[in-house]
Amino acid sequence: MAPHSIRTIGDPVLKQKTVEVTKVDGALVKLVDDMFATMYDAPGVGLAANQVGVQQRFFVYDYDDRPGVVINPVIVESRGEAEFTEGCLSVPGLSWEIVRPAEIHVKGYDLDGNELDLELDDYAARVFQHEIDHLEGRLLVEHLTDEQRKEARKALRELRMRDAGPLPEPELAVGRLRLR
Ligand SMILES: [Zn+2]
Repeated sequence: MAPHSIRTIGDPVLKQKTVEVTKVDGALVKLVDDMFATMYDAPGVGLAANQVGVQQRFFVYDYDDRPGVVINPVIVESRGEAEFTEGCLSVPGLSWEIVRPAEIHVKGYDLDGNELDLELDDYAARVFQHEIDHLEGRLLVEHLTDEQRKEARKALRELRMRDAGPLPEPELAVGRLRLR
């Protein structure tokens, strides 16, 4: 069983901006290990700390068998535009075609305190943007077009009825969520 349960849409922790990590200690290393286990169990290719209820600015990822941790990531530059089918472990079972910048320049730190300075494109750029969004308190549903948003509301309603869980109404219609 996964060490953590993954928070899903409607959980307020997903809408809060995370705070910078100031110290890498044993507790953080253990948390990172547990997050990898949780991500592999899901399975997923990325997991941000607040998806397991931890308000700290870091995420783990593993795509193309390249696992890593990025602490205090910042996108310093982004270029172009690309469309990808994107899903999220916190919005289970749903995915959408989402437009985001095609290339990004990211800075941050790894678990050993080494500075990371990465030029990413294609899938890597997508994974990093998605996870950094989480750390800012943004879910992928905030990138939907009006049409997609309508469908999303319906799908989320159905999902909620099926689970009969206590998910509050997702705030998909808020004005500031309009991306472009
Ligand atoms: Zn996600």
